[in-house]
Amino acid sequence: MLTAEIKGKKKITPAPQSAESTNPYESMLERFKVAAEKIGLDEETYNILKSPDRQYLVSLPVRMDDGKMKVFEGYRIIHSTGRGPSKGGIRYSMEVNLDEVKALAAWMTWKCAIADIPYGGAKGGITCDPSKMSVGELERLTRAYTVAMRDVIGVDKDIPAPDVSTGPREMAWIVDEYSKLKGEFTPGVVTGKPLDLGGSEGRVEATGRGVFVAAMEAMKKLKMNPKKSTAAIQGFGNVGSITAKYFEDAGIKVIAISDHTGAWLNPKGINIEKAIEYRNANKGTLQGFKDGKMISNEELLTLNADILAPCALENQIRRHNAANVKAKLIVEGANGPITAGADEVLQEKNIMVIPDILANGGGVTVSYFEWTQNRFGYYYPVEEIHKRADLSMTRAFNNVWKMAQKYKVSMRIAAYMFALEKVAKAVKARGCY
Ligand code: GLU
Repeated sequence: MLTAEIKGKKKITPAPQSAESTNPYESMLERFKVAAEKIGLDEETYNILKSPDRQYLVSLPVRMDDGKMKVFEGYRIIHSTGRGPSKGGIRYSMEVNLDEVKALAAWMTWKCAIADIPYGGAKGGITCDPSKMSVGELERLTRAYTVAMRDVIGVDKDIPAPDVSTGPREMAWIVDEYSKLKGEFTPGVVTGKPLDLGGSEGRVEATGRGVFVAAMEAMKKLKMNPKKSTAAIQGFGNVGSITAKYFEDAGIKVIAISDHTGAWLNPKGINIEKAIEYRNANKGTLQGFKDGKMISNEELLTLNADILAPCALENQIRRHNAANVKAKLIVEGANGPITAGADEVLQEKNIMVIPDILANGGGVTVSYFEWTQNRFGYYYPVEEIHKRADLSMTRAFNNVWKMAQKYKVSMRIAAYMFALEKVAKAVKARGCY
């Protein structure tokens, strides 16, 4: 209700809701604008980069197990191919919509530039609830998506990868379907594949490992001792659980973890190895977990922990709860977990945020290693992958850090500035007719 009747039949309009946007694309644009101004980006390049290059929306009819047909919506948004073929995951979720995928695609462009890998950015998604679908249904849906996008994706065009609720299994189906369509084995069309099908060592743990490396770099700058620090981690999928494991191994006490079924707090430290075992034996969820007291996801975000790692979905920290965040350092394992409105509040509170486009770039970095290995047909051992990925993450962190120091801006704005400068150079070098 926008207006309320009060005594005397006078109508009043309540104060407008906070202008904070939870639309990820608007959140992206808000930061993009600030960064563009700071680097003095010319209007032409600004206009090219503010909207995606191409947007594909497809209808995917799939035969469900009960014999009925269901039509799903599938997206692939190519934000930019300025620096190379576009790159980015495919997510399966009921939240998937055009603006979300557009934002995620743009974030991939910035992420690849910061990681210094020769790709543009893209993202895909299917609006579906994978938790309510059988393996057979998911396979048919994935194959239908591959067929629908066969002219969009390609080794030198656009290379998908896993994202929320997709993994090596889905990538294997895509390789198989795409290879059949092409009439030749084409593993380089996606990354994040199983090891037996051209996947890379180190890809599974790449994002979480990168989040950890970025957090360690930040801790050095903030003079925080890992062995005396605590962490709260939101999300216990691939990124959250592996980040938690690396934190624990480095002596950081992980006092809280969560997933969509709840959050758990144990001030003495949760045994992450056991939590992962529990989740694996429990259909992928932490439901019924005993190592800690149950708290809400909201409480987890405002716990008294030194490090907060949101590794779940978008818009978790907004203006209203940002004021209650107590962490000294936030490292964004997820894409877009903090709104642009909340950024300001966190900055005022002097909380350092390692932004998504920097913090979770370890995943796409090892995707790049996978893609190059597919092209060579020669594969590196895990030690080599870890070494190169860690070096890349450390370098990216310090590039952004220097930018932040030089321009006296947040790490988020510095990351956008760094990325924009790089992408703009490529776009300008290509020219326009
Ligand atoms: N979905 C991951 C991301 O958001 C990985 C993308 C990729 O490896 O291409 O960064």
